[in-house]
Formats: sequence, C-alpha cells, structure tokens
Amino acid sequence: MNAIQPLPDLLISQIAAGEVVERPASALKELLENSLDAGATEVTVQLFQGGVKLVRVADNGAGISGEDLPLALARHATSKIRTLEDLQNVPSLGFRGEALASIASVSRLALVSRSAGDKHAWRIEAEAGRFTPPEPAAFAQGTAVEMRDLYFNTPARRKFLKTEATEFAHCESVFKRIALSRPSVGFTLQHNGTVRSHLRTADARLRIAAVLGDEFSQASVFVDDQAADLRLWGMAALPAYSRSSGDAQYFFVNGRFVRDKLVAHALREAYRDILHLDRHPAFVLFLEINGGGVDVNVHPSKTEVRFRDPRALHQFIFHTVDKALAMPHLTGGAAVPV
Ligand code: ADP
Ligand code: MG
Repeated sequence: MNAIQPLPDLLISQIAAGEVVERPASALKELLENSLDAGATEVTVQLFQGGVKLVRVADNGAGISGEDLPLALARHATSKIRTLEDLQNVPSLGFRGEALASIASVSRLALVSRSAGDKHAWRIEAEAGRFTPPEPAAFAQGTAVEMRDLYFNTPARRKFLKTEATEFAHCESVFKRIALSRPSVGFTLQHNGTVRSHLRTADARLRIAAVLGDEFSQASVFVDDQAADLRLWGMAALPAYSRSSGDAQYFFVNGRFVRDKLVAHALREAYRDILHLDRHPAFVLFLEINGGGVDVNVHPSKTEVRFRDPRALHQFIFHTVDKALAMPHLTGGAAVPV
C-alpha cells in the first residue's frame, strides 16, 4: 500500500468533471443554467462538431465583475447560496459552485463578462486548471463562456464521445428542455455556423408549440390543477401522438427538468387505459411545489430530486393527468390559455 496523500486540485476537479461534464451536452446544460440564473433574457448557443470542438453560450444577464472572474472558475465558489438554509430553499438552478471549475479542468475555457457596474468587460482563459489573470475586453453587458476541445487532456474520456450527430442530438435535447422551461427568454441555437433554432420570447403555450411542433399541441390536452402546496400544469398528448420512445417527455419541478421514477410511474398509470404498452406518452408538464416539499441536492447533475411526500405527489399527478386525458375536447386547438 502507498502512503495516503491529498489529491492535487486539478485531479479533484477532473474527477468531479466525470459527474458534471459527461459530454458536451452536460456542459451546455450547466452553461445555460448559469445564464438563466444570471437573469438573461436572450441566450445564444453556438456549437461546432456536436459541441466537442466548441460550446459557446452568450447571454445578456447580470455578468461577473472583473475581480470575481477568477472566483467563478474556482471550485466550490458560488454567488448563489451562503448558508444551509439557502440550500434548503434554493431558487437558482445552480448552487454547487463546481460546474465552471470542472469544465475548466477538462477543456480550454474562455470567459468574457461585463457586469452593470463595470466600464468594460473582462476576459479570463483557463486550460487544464491553470488560468490567466483577467484582461480588459470588449463585450456588451452579460457573459460569454467558450468551452473548446472537451477532454483534450483526458484521452480516456475522449474515447467515450460519440459521433458528431449523436453529440449534437444530446445538445439539442438539452437546449429544448431549457427553452421549454423559460418561455420568457429568447434562445438561439447554431451548429457549425447554421441556425438550427430561433425561439422568440413567448407564453408557455406558444413556446411548447415552437419546440415540439403544432402537431403535438393540436393532439394535446391542457392540464392544470392545484392541491395544497402543489400545482401541475402544461400539456399532455392524447394517444394519437404517442411515440415509440420516451423522446417527447418533459417534466419540470420548480422550473428544473427532472427525471424521476415516481413521476414516470404516476404518468404511466394515467395513460394506462388509453395507451398500448409499447407506446410512450408525450407531455410537457410543470410541477410547482411550495413549502420545501422537494430536495434538489441529490446528485451533481441535479436531474434527480427527492420528494418529501412521494405518495401524495403520485396520487396528485395521476389524478390530474387522468382527469385531463378524460376531456379530449380540450385540446391545444381550443382557446383555453395555459
Ligand atoms: P454555480 O452555478 O453552482 O454557482 P458555476 O461553477 O456554474 O457554479 O458558476 C460559478 C459562479 O460564476 C456562479 O455562482 C456565478 O456567480 C458566476 N457565473 C457563472 N456563469 C455566469 C453567467 N452566465 N452570468 C453571470 N454569472 C455567472
Ligand atoms: Mg452553475
């Protein structure tokens, strides 16, 4: 046995990166969440080679001051929580303060930002954990983060990256999830210099139609119900729009895309009598839980959550969707606002 030694900082970040930056799409998710947390109303995503060569996210949010810029890349440094109480009721998408540090440890990262108080922007670059001191730069208010050459310094990881088309498809689904979660924000997606999606600020219903298509909207019923600390709303497709895979299932908990077994089971049950076993339902549903009924600090990727009262939640989701599906005349064509 060797003597016990503390791990070097870079290696710690690279280990953490295995959980936070599995592939370009997971880095994209973190960058988009940062833009939303910064209050951006316009976000532009540029990808090259499925994001392996470049993921660039530019926003018009609050920005980062020149002096804070190196801290943004430091591990466990965040502007979003301060205390344990903050963690229990965290309104932001991020709070762990490790995404940028992880990304910087496995890519070439550049960060340009200008906060409202700064006369000009500042730029900082990082490569394999080392970063340059901030330098003055030109940029309108907001932040642009560029991640180049993911895993250039960890070849073993690079081997797990798939084809450009596959990596792009993953990035596109992350983009769609985020875009669905914030209709009030405008989003643009470019791949290899071509615009693939341009979403203007809209209401939820128009955004859903823009992301999933009119066909989905027209084949869907509106869902909206409340009980105690819970509200579930959105759109659920009738069997005519069922899918051969679960590729059109979007479930958000307090604005965060979530994959959860309990939720999936409740929805499956709601569709049980009307859908063949080999077909998958399509839906965009937003669950709002007040009063601390959900814990998001379960996994670094934050797509898992823990519910305080799973049984009541299961019932509520099942009944709400079951009831909505029983009223197929209220489809997206009808004039019922979401
Ligand atoms: P977290 O989001 O968990 O705080 P990150 O590593 O993702 O951790 O980001 C670290 C910090 O950098 C954030 O807390 C925030 O202050 C700042 N930051 C990152 N991205 C942006 C952005 N797009 N706009 C403004 N500030 C940002
Ligand atoms: Mg973050």
